[in-house]
Amino acid sequence: MTEDVRRVFRMDNEVLAFRFTATLGDRGSRTPRERLTDAARLKMWLGATGLDVMDVSPAGLSDAVELREAIYRIGSAIAAGTRPKPKDVRTLNAVAAAGHAKAALERGGAVWHLTEATPVRDALGVLAADAVRVLGGPDRGRIKNCEGPGCAGLFLDTSRGANRRWCSMNTCGNKVKKSRIAAG
Ligand SMILES: [Zn+2]
Repeated sequence: MTEDVRRVFRMDNEVLAFRFTATLGDRGSRTPRERLTDAARLKMWLGATGLDVMDVSPAGLSDAVELREAIYRIGSAIAAGTRPKPKDVRTLNAVAAAGHAKAALERGGAVWHLTEATPVRDALGVLAADAVRVLGGPDRGRIKNCEGPGCAGLFLDTSRGANRRWCSMNTCGNKVKKSRIAAG
């Protein structure tokens, strides 16, 4: 693996499922940026997330994108205070139910074991289960879309005053600050 994963993907979202939705960047702009351009990119992202798979098929990639967009639409609906579409919820639940990954504590760290038969499905199941946890969890009222220019990425606002506006201070927060300085 020669490409540096951090040059290709934004890995800074604290919530795994939302980090996954960030593999499509600039969602709020007219030209969203697809970073899962092929199956090798998905394998790379999964590996960086601790979900190592040997191989990803084109069908695995399209399943992943379908799951990713369902998570994004559900999260955005919750952020807007509206009801998620039942079709998206069905997609999410089906992927969550199909996974057979097992969590283990090894050498002090959490690791996922995927099956040999369906590793990609298992990996997507881990992402879907994380999405279920956050989209249906006690902090779901803190799910927001980033206000950074063209971003609209999902994040969980865990700040005490619930007044965070950007998916990441290092990227979107800084961009806004810089443009304010330039405008001022
Ligand atoms: Zn952002």
